[in-house]
Amino acid sequence: MWKFPIFIILASLPTISPLSTPQPVRTIAVCGGGITGLSCAKSLSKHTDAKIIVFDPTLPPSTSIVGGGIQLNGGASILRSILDENEFTSFKHKMNPMKEIVSRSFVKDEAELLRIDVDSTLKSFASAKDLVRPDGGTDSFTVMRCTLLEALYDSVKKCSNVEVVTEGVIGVEEVKEGEAHKFNVLTTASPPQPFDLVVGCDGVSSKVKSFVSPNTKAIYSNIRISWAVSAPSMENNETRLEQFFGDGGYALKGTYGYGSGGEKCKMAVLVYREGRRVGKRGEEGVEDENSSWNASPSSSSPSSSFSSRLTSFGLPSEPFSNVATPDATYFDLGVYFHNPFQAWVKGHSGSNNTAVVLCGDAAHAMPPFLGQGANQGIRDADVLARTVARYNKEVEAGNSELNGSLLERLEGYRSKRWAQTTQITLKSVFLGYLEVGGGPLSDFRDNFFSFAGKVGLAKYIWVDGATPKPRVGEAGATKGFNLIESLEKGKLFLEALTDPAKYMDDE
Ligand SMILES: Cc1cc2nc3c(=O)[nH]c(=O)nc-3n(C[C@H](O)[C@H](O)[C@H](O)COP(=O)(O)OP(=O)(O)OC[C@H]3O[C@@H](n4cnc5c(N)ncnc54)[C@H](O)[C@@H]3O)c2cc1C
Repeated sequence: MWKFPIFIILASLPTISPLSTPQPVRTIAVCGGGITGLSCAKSLSKHTDAKIIVFDPTLPPSTSIVGGGIQLNGGASILRSILDENEFTSFKHKMNPMKEIVSRSFVKDEAELLRIDVDSTLKSFASAKDLVRPDGGTDSFTVMRCTLLEALYDSVKKCSNVEVVTEGVIGVEEVKEGEAHKFNVLTTASPPQPFDLVVGCDGVSSKVKSFVSPNTKAIYSNIRISWAVSAPSMENNETRLEQFFGDGGYALKGTYGYGSGGEKCKMAVLVYREGRRVGKRGEEGVEDENSSWNASPSSSSPSSSFSSRLTSFGLPSEPFSNVATPDATYFDLGVYFHNPFQAWVKGHSGSNNTAVVLCGDAAHAMPPFLGQGANQGIRDADVLARTVARYNKEVEAGNSELNGSLLERLEGYRSKRWAQTTQITLKSVFLGYLEVGGGPLSDFRDNFFSFAGKVGLAKYIWVDGATPKPRVGEAGATKGFNLIESLEKGKLFLEALTDPAKYMDDE
């Protein structure tokens, strides 16, 4: 007599069990406290009341490890929305405004290829409206990586629901508890800790990525970047970024914000192809990828090798003489291409509020030729935090019909961000090889840049990287030039067919 009702109760248990009832995301591990990780912690803290732990053995950031100089545009407008107003104002004073980009070729006679006035360009594109501040200024800056990290870290430390743990993550493990799956973060010093959401922001050599997407390969491009950073000084106030194209290499010179007192560093960058072949990481003859921002060339005299390289590409050394000095800090790295066709998300449909997801360079490390890696990492962080916040809000409101599980929403975050970051990565690979091409390719490059400068395509490419949703037919670049507009329309049409999520609002 009792068997039938008990059978019914047992059979219905899985659907009424707390495991299958949607739960909000309450605990989040942010693995890696670089630009993406700290932006992620800040943004998650702003939009959710989850408990957030940031793991990074290198925190707090040190201003003696200057790292590279970063052009900040789209990322700056996002930081303006996630930092408190006074925090952004004080950070803005530490950055250097970037007002102009000028490219010149030295292959034959010295010739100007293109010149972009940054303020008027940003103001002429409707898609760049978020980069125009209410005070009429534009969000286009240059800043040393350490200064950006310091500003983010100071802000994150004030968030009551964020804890920073100075431990390295050694991996992520999956633990099955009945029908549910939990993800533990394994660190160098603490016992395994379970989190509802694990976010991998641990850069190009990500341990979290090796859990989400094992066996993904990076290919050495045979393009190298060497750069010199001068000591900070109040005298450095140049707001122009200058590119110098030579035969087989190109150089860049700019000034980057460094300190609260208005000090700035000059940076000189040299990008070139070296004789070694394209190949896999770790193969003989293939340089390792620098992910720690503190490597320097093995040469005992980096300043003389910097200037002799300039000369070997037919570039003048004089514009760099006050930057690439013997007492500057030197860096050198090999550029790698990372496979964009990899998973960013791992979870199980049965586990309603647990998953692992990638962000920033861990998800989509890109060659730096469009200056977008950090900007895109900040954008990922913001989109991810809003995605989690929307999910939590719906679950907490007790909506019987959710707009998708956590896993589905994280996949939505991935498709939205994948579309933009993959586009930028591909353009960056193209630009990288074009910019360092020698011989006939130098002529092609110079003609391409000169043409792109004249018809406004260069402005379009620059704004395209800095903004999330470039739109066809905007004033400025494409005005009066129907070929580009038609190509863009075709491209956007194909993208809208294959990835409609990209055209949905982030809000
Ligand atoms: C020469 C050069 C110039 C560039 N210029 C620009 C530019 O102008 N504009 C731009 O937007 N981008 C630029 N970039 C790219 C930009 O620097 C990167 O995209 C950006 O730093 C990525 O940030 P991230 O936080 O995702 O990764 P990272 O900066 O690599 O930070 C990863 C963090 O994770 C931590 N970490 C690593 N492993 C572990 C672990 N196991 N456990 C815990 N923590 C860990 C590290 O300590 C680090 O703090 C440039 C890059 C280079 C190389």
